[in-house]
Amino acid sequence: MPFPLPPGSTIGILGGGQLGRMLALAAARLGLDVVILTPDAGSPASKVSRETIVAAYDDPDALARLAALADVVTYEFENVPAATVAALNGLGAPTAPGPLALAVAQDRVEEKTFLNGAHAPTVAFAAVGSVSDIAAALPRIGLPALLKTRREGYDGKGQAWIHDAAEAGAAFAAVGAAPSILEARAAFTRELSIIAARGRDGQTAFYPLSENVHEGGILRTTFAPAAVTPALQAEAERIAGEVLGRLDYVGVMGIELFDLGDGTLLVNEIAPRVHNTGHWTQDGCEVDQFEQHIRAVAGWPLGDTTPAVSVEMTNLLGDEILGWADLARDPAARLHLYGKGEPRPGRKMGHVNRVRRFRG
Ligand code: AMP
Repeated sequence: MPFPLPPGSTIGILGGGQLGRMLALAAARLGLDVVILTPDAGSPASKVSRETIVAAYDDPDALARLAALADVVTYEFENVPAATVAALNGLGAPTAPGPLALAVAQDRVEEKTFLNGAHAPTVAFAAVGSVSDIAAALPRIGLPALLKTRREGYDGKGQAWIHDAAEAGAAFAAVGAAPSILEARAAFTRELSIIAARGRDGQTAFYPLSENVHEGGILRTTFAPAAVTPALQAEAERIAGEVLGRLDYVGVMGIELFDLGDGTLLVNEIAPRVHNTGHWTQDGCEVDQFEQHIRAVAGWPLGDTTPAVSVEMTNLLGDEILGWADLARDPAARLHLYGKGEPRPGRKMGHVNRVRRFRG
């Protein structure tokens, strides 16, 4: 299928959560159809998509059907099995972002090794697989240190702080004695992120930095554009440009950053997908991160990332969704609800963008 994909083409999305749902809504606005592959029936994304294939990500029949229906396949989460991507490519379905970006993002040691090679600074780190590895690495990493599983941690899960060398054993047990990374503590003043995009022609686009506040490891609020100097925005764009270029990336990427307050930005992690800290762009920018991602994977020109207003994005977690009627009455609140069933504690049920016009 030659790019750009014309309206009427079909985008396949692996994953049926809220990110897939908002990608599907953006695709629909551009006249593109969406087919979702997810193991979960009744997923948020399938409620707004043309078709859903409910199957495991390694189900050969499901992958064959997806490849037959979709002109390009993308993802809404980074832990897509490499074999799934290889199978889709073997069936003639192009995928974006590519396998290298997925491999790098799926393993924290690979990720930080890649980042440092791409002139993207990170905290000092060591790959560890035993308590004695941790003990051997601690003198170089320093205390306190943060132990994280190499793979499959998210929202602060699979992490344990080590304040004293004697805690190494307990920390390793707390992360399930899994292959891990030992990280130096970043003495950050605030957490920032940049949402970046790269098109099939290598064109790049960057949104303004946002400032993010986490509670219990889960994103609570994003303020954007963040109050930063032009030099800090330029540094974030330099890092993002290096990362996107070296991965020959196609699509939107979220890059989480630690601001050390002295002009230095360290990369915490990269997410090869649309990102929770980019939800503000839905009501803040000419073209939001979801449309931008669809544009990129479909081979369209990238859209304008200029912010028109400033936005405070708040996640609605668990029971907070029950306040929807009050929020709906608030003229400053733009509601984005995900169509999820049970409001379990900490579950992302929706978000609110509160918009403030720039003083002109
Ligand atoms: P992560 O799962 O890697 O995104 O980490 C979740 C949160 O833990 C981050 O948003 C930070 O608030 C904190 N964190 C992660 N790594 C470090 C580090 N090396 N030093 C200090 N805080 C960290």
